[in-house]
Amino acid sequence: MAEKLVHGSIGSAEAMRLEGEYGAHNYHPLPIVIAKAEGAKVWDPEGKEYFDFLSAYSAVNQGHCHPRIIDALIEQAKTLTLTSRAFYNNKLGEYEKFVTEYFGYEMVLPMNSGAEAVETAMKLSRKWGYEKKGIPENEALLVFAEGNFHGRTIAIVSASCDPDAYHNYGPFLPGIEKIAYNDPSALEALLAEKGDKVAAFIVEPIQGEAGVFVPDDGYLKKCYDICKKHNVLFVADEVQTGIARTGRLLACDWEDVHPDILILGKAISGGVLPVSAVLSSKEIMLCIKPGEHGSTFGGFPLACAVATAALTVIKDENMVERAEKLGKVFRAEVEKIHSPLIKQVRGKGLLNAVIIEPHNGKEAWDVCVKMKENGLLAKPTHQHIIRFAPPLVITEEELLKCVAIFKKSLDEVLA
Ligand SMILES: *Cc1c(COP(=O)(O)O)cnc(C)c1O
Repeated sequence: MAEKLVHGSIGSAEAMRLEGEYGAHNYHPLPIVIAKAEGAKVWDPEGKEYFDFLSAYSAVNQGHCHPRIIDALIEQAKTLTLTSRAFYNNKLGEYEKFVTEYFGYEMVLPMNSGAEAVETAMKLSRKWGYEKKGIPENEALLVFAEGNFHGRTIAIVSASCDPDAYHNYGPFLPGIEKIAYNDPSALEALLAEKGDKVAAFIVEPIQGEAGVFVPDDGYLKKCYDICKKHNVLFVADEVQTGIARTGRLLACDWEDVHPDILILGKAISGGVLPVSAVLSSKEIMLCIKPGEHGSTFGGFPLACAVATAALTVIKDENMVERAEKLGKVFRAEVEKIHSPLIKQVRGKGLLNAVIIEPHNGKEAWDVCVKMKENGLLAKPTHQHIIRFAPPLVITEEELLKCVAIFKKSLDEVLA
């Protein structure tokens, strides 16, 4: 017997069947169908309630369907949505002033997805390398860290060390160097050897997809200083770590590092539209001239209105402070759990991960399935790591309830 529907017009089983039948199989979702969401909670079509501890990979930091962001969306959608950049529009310049002042940069290049913003940063770095640094034509190098995740385009997966991301997508982009993460000496050694050809070092302040891998304190500052010494751009991919998630506006703020190029995406729209941004100085940004880069939707009026509202909500609701405080509570509470399945808890702010030690054949996936049954959604990244990153609007009481669900699920998985 099919359960009674509460949200929408099809049930969970049918929704999953349709995706499997008609959609490319490029994801392996947890068996949960979300039909409605608000704040830190989501509901399936049958009306069962869950806490969302993925937050769409930190895109919904402001909470699902934040009313102020949705109001901005609706108001703007009724007035003007898309003009293309062939013409000016009355929202873009205002937004550009707002977003550059917000993050302390001179100029912004607006794009849509995170991957597009990373691509933009790669192109911008190369342009700067040739036109300002004087690298000989077609010899510019971009340096990436092992274990990185920067998106899915061919240029980006050329820098990946994950076979799932690059296998059979070659031939790959040349001019890419990969060095160990969390090892400033690896950067120093590479730049000592080839620094005159290197345009940029592109790095995540915390490697999110790698399993919330937090580098040692001082890593970012050391890398920044090494880059300065060799006239190499320090580029931070803060698509996942940025915008209050780690208990600072930017994860680089933990070390007072101001990247030469800052890449943002995900939460810049509060999960409402694909909006991304590349921020930098005039000196660097103006290396790209009219007609040399762009996107039909990049900086569209609807995105400008939504991103402005989403960033305003972050400040008005003190989400940076919330993330820092609640993150400490989360890690302290998880550390109190005694389970043979828990190996380590790590993270900053509300970007956390628990490393699972497989036990009696049970691993991270089994824990996530059990948590889902108990009303808590999280997803394994790699085999043995579960990321816990709720929307930053979650209350302390809700957070404690979720830790209790986690504990209960660990016990049940082994029962
Ligand atoms: C998600 C992510 C991206 C890619 O963003 P998309 O919008 O999925 O293209 C890039 N960098 C980091 C660090 C990310 O977490």
